[in-house]
Amino acid sequence: MSSNHDTEIKELLGRMTPMEKLGQLQQLAWGFNTGPGGPGTEDVEAAARAGRVGSVLNLMGAANANALQRIAVEESRLGIPLIYGLDVIHGYWTTFPIPLAQAAAFDPSVTEADAAVSAREARSDGIGWVFSPMMDVTHEPRWGRIAESHGEDPYLTACYAAAKVRGYQGSSLSAPDRVAACAKHFAAYGGAEGGRDYNTVDVSEQRLRNLYLPPFLAAVDAGAATVMAAFNTVSGVPAHGNTHTLTDILKTQWGFDGVVVSDWAGVDELVTHGFAADSAEAGLLAVNAGVDVEMASTSFVEHGPELLSRGRISEERLDDAVTRVLRLKFRLGLFDRPYVDLDAVVQEPTPSARAAARAAAARCMVLLRNSPAVLPLDPAVSTIAVVGPFADSTDLLGTWVLGETQRRFPAGTVRQALETALPGTRIRHADGVQAAVDAAMAADVTIVVAGEPSALSGEAATRADLGLPDAQEELIAAVAATGKPYAVVLLGGRPLTGAWLDSAPAVLMAWHPGIEGGNAIADVLTGAVNPGGKLPVTFPRAVGQVPIYYNRENTGRPYDPARPENPFVSAYLDLADGPRFPFGHGLSYTTFVVDEPSLSQDRIGAAALRDGATVEVTVTLRNTGDHAGDEVVQLYVHDRAASIVQPVRRMRGFQRVHLAAGEQTSVRFTLAANDLGFWTGDPNGRFVVEPGKIDIHTGTSSATTSRRTLTIT
Ligand code: BGC
Repeated sequence: MSSNHDTEIKELLGRMTPMEKLGQLQQLAWGFNTGPGGPGTEDVEAAARAGRVGSVLNLMGAANANALQRIAVEESRLGIPLIYGLDVIHGYWTTFPIPLAQAAAFDPSVTEADAAVSAREARSDGIGWVFSPMMDVTHEPRWGRIAESHGEDPYLTACYAAAKVRGYQGSSLSAPDRVAACAKHFAAYGGAEGGRDYNTVDVSEQRLRNLYLPPFLAAVDAGAATVMAAFNTVSGVPAHGNTHTLTDILKTQWGFDGVVVSDWAGVDELVTHGFAADSAEAGLLAVNAGVDVEMASTSFVEHGPELLSRGRISEERLDDAVTRVLRLKFRLGLFDRPYVDLDAVVQEPTPSARAAARAAAARCMVLLRNSPAVLPLDPAVSTIAVVGPFADSTDLLGTWVLGETQRRFPAGTVRQALETALPGTRIRHADGVQAAVDAAMAADVTIVVAGEPSALSGEAATRADLGLPDAQEELIAAVAATGKPYAVVLLGGRPLTGAWLDSAPAVLMAWHPGIEGGNAIADVLTGAVNPGGKLPVTFPRAVGQVPIYYNRENTGRPYDPARPENPFVSAYLDLADGPRFPFGHGLSYTTFVVDEPSLSQDRIGAAALRDGATVEVTVTLRNTGDHAGDEVVQLYVHDRAASIVQPVRRMRGFQRVHLAAGEQTSVRFTLAANDLGFWTGDPNGRFVVEPGKIDIHTGTSSATTSRRTLTIT
């Protein structure tokens, strides 16, 4: 028996009717295809019995999963088990910080471990396939799905993508605590014009390859079992009908042997895109472009028989798609163990899962400002005012949290957490501006918990304005006007703007930190945890600057010899230059210094690099302050002159390091060909390392100026 189960699959294929084959390609959505307005609950059972469905989305509960599975396995002609899929984005029962926040930890190993927790909870309840990780790189803070992303950098996102795939899938999908991952959305979904969800993406081949695809390649290399097509067009051709991306790049050039699933009704939407005349043509174009499984819409099963009989879909293509689905089912061990063990279902977040969620949330927080140092809170304070719309709110979970999880396992609030953490301190909570001012006047220090609610980020949650909703800016101004010390804890699923960000003495970006977010915020405010997160995305000064991102290209002008690669080109007449906070920025309660990098050699041949030679970059990191803490040492490269203009900085390394006060260590990075070269615009995929000078920058944010130059000969 080969590990790819080729023999069993061939044998099974030989016994399947065309309709049974098409059935494997159908994913029905529980409560949609099966609910009011759909074919009705009876029908999913009838479909399972008839072998007209291969997987089911959104069915929750181990007993429900077993009941439907029993029909597929025991009452259908071939007994092929179903796979259950679900959007487990940042937790099943245990809600971890949103993905953008996870990226701010600059520590994929934490996320890998947390994905394993989600996998265990989900698989024990019958879910074998999670529609995660989302790995769309984006330059658009207006786009609501930035919350689900890992920010603006392809390298950071690729590291997270691979870590999540490993965390979900482990070494064997058939293990009872692992699930199949889904790399989504293929491709370039984060490039939606104007940040409006689902919008047009017109992207050059070289930008596609260098910016949007690296995380997918990393996920495929890490063994991602499935990939989901994107809702957008890619240069005029919708991703669901895009042979170039789905078949040429993903399946042929990268050798992906897993399943390509459509996004929700993405096949039928080829009609609304204006790419297919009707649902039959949509099915035809999608399947021939490389979509293997159709989610929610039903054009494959409805029109497949006729398309097959007329030879519009070849038997080879159909068998290839079915083979991919059956292979996934074998890999998941579903033929051997189709049912869930009802005694082994994880019913709630375990204490260790909660502890992991708390540590993860604290680890992702980014101290944006702290001068004068309001934080950590002075242990001697006797009264703390806690104000703002989120001071006593459970809205800390973020987007894409299952309804049942929200109901059963809400987050504790910041107020509650501070009361627990500081039993000897009076915590005075106040609602509304006037009461907040009174509370601030009577307190030693005020914590304003501000931000955007979870509902303002996520799918189809685009914002034109990145300011704080409602009267929150007035609230912050009123607290500031008391003249008493205060800190702002900022919640959000994206970068936010506001002039107050230039004047508030202390600002802690806490994102949407998940089930233990309240406790984690208290941990950081009190200094039990020293914040060490960094921004995975640029914070603009104003929405009018968007898109603004660190890894931009130089233009020819204006030219300033003093800042050959720093000008924020063609800046706005009515706004200060540059972003408010750059990519990679984040402070600590201690201070760190990173010395100039040193290189193992300053010249290397392009051919040697292609043959596997590497360059070592070493820096010394020193904790020069009086607290223990974490720093993320960052490495960026810049190819000064190349056949395709290169970004002024491109992250190619990061390491989060913990140092005691006064301690120092050396941090080493290894640069290989894939760090120093780039993809050309060749549609066949050509990666080149060109001779020339590469500046290697190291530091504690993307704004670093420390550098050494490597010459590639
Ligand atoms: C989203 C996907 C998600 C799917 C299933 C779509 O609207 O774009 O990311 O996996 O729904 O819920």
